Amino acid sequence: MGTILPPLLRMLFPGHRRHFTFTRQHVPMPEPPERLNLYVHIPFCRRICAFCPYVKQVYASGVALSYMEAMRTELQRYRDAWGDRPVESVYFGGGTPSLAPEIVNRILESISGSLRSSTEIGVEVHPIDVRPRLLQSLIESGVTMVSLGVQSFDDRHLAMLGRGYDARQAYEASELIMSAGFAAVDIDLIFAIPGQTEQEAVTDVSTAFALGAHQVSAYPLIRFAHTSLGSQLSNAHASSPSWNKERRMLKAIVTQGRDAGYERSSIWSFTRPGAPRYTTVTRDSFIGIGAGASSRMGDYFWVNTFHVDEYIRSTESGTPARLATRLDEGDRMAYWLFWRCYDTIIDHARFRSAFGRNMPRRISAALMLLDHAGLARRASHSAFRLTDPGAYLFHLIEKHYTHAYLERLWTACLHDPWPEAVTL
Ligand code: SF4
Repeated sequence: MGTILPPLLRMLFPGHRRHFTFTRQHVPMPEPPERLNLYVHIPFCRRICAFCPYVKQVYASGVALSYMEAMRTELQRYRDAWGDRPVESVYFGGGTPSLAPEIVNRILESISGSLRSSTEIGVEVHPIDVRPRLLQSLIESGVTMVSLGVQSFDDRHLAMLGRGYDARQAYEASELIMSAGFAAVDIDLIFAIPGQTEQEAVTDVSTAFALGAHQVSAYPLIRFAHTSLGSQLSNAHASSPSWNKERRMLKAIVTQGRDAGYERSSIWSFTRPGAPRYTTVTRDSFIGIGAGASSRMGDYFWVNTFHVDEYIRSTESGTPARLATRLDEGDRMAYWLFWRCYDTIIDHARFRSAFGRNMPRRISAALMLLDHAGLARRASHSAFRLTDPGAYLFHLIEKHYTHAYLERLWTACLHDPWPEAVTL
């Protein structure tokens, strides 16, 4: 598959470059956006899961307090430059934001002048944290959406993933969070877990659908070299499902979602018709606050240092350097197109509003080609929607990009707080 994908990628995502180099640099303050999308990274967890590739460390209250102040300083720099811009969305990810609801509350207080009644405020919640008091605190802070990281409703698979709770706790947490009154509850699941059968993957998603979640997201387990999952699997003589079994699982999950009356809202998510969608980095532009947070705004894509101590030190001591790459218009279009394919809908009208011009002919031609190949079909006069085979192709592309881009960037940034340059 690896030999087929690169030519396909160049056809679908016609950027000008084969390589991106991120260098350590000062990123100029972008022009103030009309509406701001924020991502806030809270890198603290109760324990570390074997498969987890994200920026995280075990919670310690002193570090968490200093970290919160550093994030407020980082946010204030934007506010000094831009004033109280209206915030369209703010998502707290991690890590485990629900372990530190006081940080969520304090950050929201800092930007209260920019919040509107329509602002989406989303928080990732760990099942162990789901208690009436936490839910009440999130609602009082203004949180409207939550994403519950259940991962599985099966004891065996929860143990394999090292989650620290069992299926009964996962189910009870889901029921409680569903009754708390949030505008949207997303339940996150993982499929293609070593040893998981197709039926078990289907049972997991159908449990989440039956609970009435507004959105159910089922992500394939992707093994990152820097996690301990690989060695754990070798010790247990377990291996990941074959690509064909993973394909069958995804197909069965999609069928289950449709049968339950959900719409496919991304290659890995299903949303109840009319429900708000829980989504973070798929936005056209956003600012990330905190260690390891990425931002995409103006001509740049950049990431903050992945090291929590360095993040606190450098933020408090002045403008921190970032690892950044400059994007020309072709790159920005490729980036936009990548995430619209992830959404499974590519809309000419949305392109025009993002770029102020019509889609270039080469992109329209690629869409027509996908249409002829049965990988996309017209959904309206201005939009194409990926068909199931098209969405499966993009599932493969997304996995390829995760290893070719994210994993390489993250590995370098986890290894060294300030790499001079990373070429992808
Ligand atoms: S998967 Fe979630 S809870 Fe587990 S270590 Fe990663 S961020 Fe923490």
